[in-house]
Amino acid sequence: MTLWTSQDAAKATDGHVTRDWQAAGVSIDTRTIEPGDLFVALKAARDGHDFVAQALEKGAAAALVSHIPEGVAEDAPLLIVDDVLTGLEAMGRAARARTQARVVAVTGSVGKTSTKEMLRDVLSQQGRTHAAEASYNNHWGVPLTLARMPADTEFAVIEIGMNHPGEIAPLSRMARPHVAMITTVAAAHLEAFEDLNGIAIEKSAIFDGLEDNGTCIFNGDLDSDLVRTMEGAAWASGGPVARFGACEECQYRLMDVRLSDETTVVQADLPGGPQLFKISTPGRHFAMNGLATLAAVEALGADPVRAAMDLARWHPPAGRGTREVIALDHDDEDLTFDLIDDAFNANPTSMAASLEVLAASTPRDGVGRVAKGRRVAILGDMLELGEDEIQLHAALSDLPYVAALDVVHCVGSRMAALYEALPEPLRGEHVDSAEALADKAHRLVDAGDVVLVKGSKGSHVSRVVDALRRVG
Ligand code: ATP
Repeated sequence: MTLWTSQDAAKATDGHVTRDWQAAGVSIDTRTIEPGDLFVALKAARDGHDFVAQALEKGAAAALVSHIPEGVAEDAPLLIVDDVLTGLEAMGRAARARTQARVVAVTGSVGKTSTKEMLRDVLSQQGRTHAAEASYNNHWGVPLTLARMPADTEFAVIEIGMNHPGEIAPLSRMARPHVAMITTVAAAHLEAFEDLNGIAIEKSAIFDGLEDNGTCIFNGDLDSDLVRTMEGAAWASGGPVARFGACEECQYRLMDVRLSDETTVVQADLPGGPQLFKISTPGRHFAMNGLATLAAVEALGADPVRAAMDLARWHPPAGRGTREVIALDHDDEDLTFDLIDDAFNANPTSMAASLEVLAASTPRDGVGRVAKGRRVAILGDMLELGEDEIQLHAALSDLPYVAALDVVHCVGSRMAALYEALPEPLRGEHVDSAEALADKAHRLVDAGDVVLVKGSKGSHVSRVVDALRRVG
């Protein structure tokens, strides 16, 4: 199916086409490009123009470039613009303008991707739904996601992230959402902000791009000054406002959450009445994301009751709390344990959420019988926390869930602060690098254990996950 014709793309970007072409997709990476895609020669670590010839060899329908790269014929199918990123943004805006899609934009310090995926899952049961397949939430990810949106899309879910002040508003204006949501405000990317309220102000900029009378949704359970900041921005936008959480003022209200080893069962009060829903992975934080999802579904004009049923189909994206049973043979002994892979990212809020899940887990063997296992946490550094980083690591030891754990292994220089703060019996290993722990992964687990691995991406604790999957 044609996504872009050369004429439409030239009109959107005010660019020049060397000859007619039709593209079925848009790609920025020759490693994953599909035949028929338009290749966008963005400049990142390397200049995308160096890959245009390769993209065309791999069957790209055309390339979006700012000049004809060396080794590429003048009559190759190209769209030539002044600046490639600006061209991609223009295509994103044009793609947004040509659909009748109802659009929801999602931001937050944690939970963006998890909530985006929940929304995608439930909305796709109710209409043709478009969302990025990865966390494409930055200055190129948002326009790329929009440029990939088919014209007949009925619902679009756009994730918007930020590392620095000023990033969210232009991306929201590009997406022009009917519904804009803040999942939560937490200590993440604190380095670039004075305090949490600074983050709340930046997140609230997602309301700037709302369509007329668009709905603002935010987490009502945060500290009152943060709630006031988000509420002020929401009122200023002039449309309906909905809060989710356990707060009394929350229109999407969490009444009760029950965690078991495999599920989260949520009792909620929605504007339409009481609603019970289930998520097939444990986590109070997933219950909150579920509520936020239902608020957005209703604001989009879709059916929240059906969506509440469909939430049971959702599973976390890879590395964000996925749970699996690992059954290996180690030295001729059965070594079966539960692995919670949360190695994609971490900050104090998501650490607390995941430690609560581990604390609530029952150690078990592969067939579900309760076994004599332990609750083992393998925690890597939380990065980009600014000057309070050491205190924020040490403070994890004060979480009530820590008392329910059996052993905590710490990875990285910042996690040394947690290691020192932990009660002696809980201290496992402290190592400087994930490799050091990966090398002795087999010594970290016993049959029946439940093992949580969590840390910022840059702590590389995913290497410990990989090692645990093959300790046999
Ligand atoms: P990033 O910006 O790093 O991509 P994100 O905002 O997209 O993060 P997710 O990828 O959904 O967030 O989740 C990151 C981590 O936070 C995972 O460990 C996930 O389980 C946890 N998490 C998800 N939602 C919440 C929430 N509402 N509160 C606390 N933790 C959460």
